[in-house]
Amino acid sequence: MHPALIVTLVAAGTIVFASTIEGLFHQFILHTRQKKLLGGLLEQSYVSHAIEHHPAYRGDDYHRPAPDHESPISLGPWMWPATMLVTSPITALVWLTLGPAAGITVPIVLTLYYVMYEFLHWHMHFPREDGKPRWYHAFPPTKQLFEWFDVRHFLHHQADDRNFNVVLPVYDLMTGRYTTRETEVPWAIRARKARAIRKSEAIRRQRVREDEREEEKVG
Ligand SMILES: [Zn+2]
Ligand SMILES: [Zn+2]
Repeated sequence: MHPALIVTLVAAGTIVFASTIEGLFHQFILHTRQKKLLGGLLEQSYVSHAIEHHPAYRGDDYHRPAPDHESPISLGPWMWPATMLVTSPITALVWLTLGPAAGITVPIVLTLYYVMYEFLHWHMHFPREDGKPRWYHAFPPTKQLFEWFDVRHFLHHQADDRNFNVVLPVYDLMTGRYTTRETEVPWAIRARKARAIRKSEAIRRQRVREDEREEEKVG
């Protein structure tokens, strides 16, 4: 196989991997209180994100200057080194089997994805101090591109069971959590709701049957 094709395929695979990790981390660490996992080490991330960040940047407050007393919305200085460390066996495996160019592609793509996350999330919530639009807000096609990122995260702040990807929505598309319209409920959430309705219907029918049996006995 041509070396450039190998690098391209590794880059594409790393993007899918990065999006999946982002989605899983966002859904199951930042929106699910993990008291036991790693001795509760990640519980503070849940508090910062789900309890502090989410309600503070909802609806009309989604895009507003950062007050001094609020903790920064960045993932912090340890997230990037931790990501590099945790994924280093994958990097080593790709390096050893497909060569150095393919190997180095993994941390490069992960770093770019991570920088994109921090850049996008910051700029989604914080306007310029002078109130003017940023260059990518003002002109097409970056205006439309940024709006596509922005609307997904805006809807995530409205309903935190959808749009877990800030960067590329591969995870959301795979798990039925992707939407760009408030009125459009993603399929996994529709399916969950339908299951809940079926369950409560079954319980209701069961109760009716029990009541009927009671009445028969009494009668
Ligand atoms: Zn946010
Ligand atoms: Zn969130």
